[in-house]
Amino acid sequence: MTDQKILGFSTRQVHVGTTAAPATPRALPIHLTAGFTFDSFEEGVAHFGEGTGYGYTRTGNPTIDAVEEKLAALESGTRALLVGSGQAAVSTAILALAGAGDHIVSSTHIYEGSRGLFLDLLPRLGISVTFIDDIADPEAWRAAITDNTKVLFGESISNAANLLFDVAAVAALGREYGIPLVIDNTFATPYLFRPLEHGAALSVHSTSKFLSGQGSVIGGVIVDGGTFDAVVHGARFPHLVAKSRLGGASFAEKYGASTFTGYAKESVAPRLGPTLSPLNAFLIGQGVETLSLRVREQSRQALVIAQYLQQHPAVESVDYVGLPTHPSHELAQTLLPRGYGSVFSFTLRGGRDSAARVVNTVQTFTHMTHLGDVRSLVLHPETTSHAFRTPEERAEVGVYPGTLRVSIGLEDLDDLIADLDRVL
Ligand code: PLP
Repeated sequence: MTDQKILGFSTRQVHVGTTAAPATPRALPIHLTAGFTFDSFEEGVAHFGEGTGYGYTRTGNPTIDAVEEKLAALESGTRALLVGSGQAAVSTAILALAGAGDHIVSSTHIYEGSRGLFLDLLPRLGISVTFIDDIADPEAWRAAITDNTKVLFGESISNAANLLFDVAAVAALGREYGIPLVIDNTFATPYLFRPLEHGAALSVHSTSKFLSGQGSVIGGVIVDGGTFDAVVHGARFPHLVAKSRLGGASFAEKYGASTFTGYAKESVAPRLGPTLSPLNAFLIGQGVETLSLRVREQSRQALVIAQYLQQHPAVESVDYVGLPTHPSHELAQTLLPRGYGSVFSFTLRGGRDSAARVVNTVQTFTHMTHLGDVRSLVLHPETTSHAFRTPEERAEVGVYPGTLRVSIGLEDLDDLIADLDRVL
């Protein structure tokens, strides 16, 4: 740059001191920048032509890339794409696969935000949805598949009934028809369960939950299993195998085993724009570094609390997959050897009044709509997260007037049980 002494005040204030000395930091550097300079004319041409290097954070950023690599490795995937929220991860994954005139099949037992997306928004884009209640019955999935079905969708551990999704069985069905299975793995985390190892094509997470862990960040991720052959199934997904607008390589030719995330990363996410902040990517990466310790301990505490609740006279039922009485417990013996997770529901005999008393009087538990935090949380689904379902629809997913959903954190177990003991 020109000699600083001959530059004006305004030029110096924006140009001087904006480049750090080369160094090798042990922690991941935060590249909090909208874009990156091209060192030459040729570098700009290569970036736009061949996708090399970095140009603009909406299309790529070294901090975000590093955390994507970490998440892909933990989830046993080939490639990951971080976006601005879990909701953005679900919508980006679906829109990478389905368009107007298409159809998806989804479990009924899913997060309300995903259900709202499927019920209210996708139909406006011309994508129809069939919901499956008996998710353990592969024939129910088969019966729902049509020529236009582009996605099978479910959650590895469901909210609120804590049902386990038989990923291997539905993924096998998907392979028969060439339809990818997308699994929301938010409740399980890759420490407890990795859907891609069981045949799912993509897994998605709200990284706002266990992955960041501290409840300070909103983010989401899609991880590609690298097992879906877009060329073989090109008739169902023509946008993945068609030549580019100018006659260049197709997404399948460019990205091979990671065609879904290649397409999502190059076409869906940058066009719709749910970019994650590099600062949030850094915080998610920091959180993930302690994921196994947190989830192991949270699962251990949750099991003891579920056992305590099950024997309490004020409690009618406990929907925790770690209890032998839960319908998915047997499946959990093989699928969840490291622990059963820490988000579950229980139903009070005293109905809504008792539930209201609990949320109004707990002290160690925090009353809020979130999960996977180091703090223990409690919520009344009937009047909050599931308020937009009919009573029959709520009953279908295990939500009754006396139901409370808890997410067990890392406080001392004795304090958590004392808090519940006092309010029950
Ligand atoms: N998936 C599940 C299972 C969730 O629980 C949530 C949020 O609660 C989401 C997706 C959406 O994530 P976010 O709130 O990060 O958009």
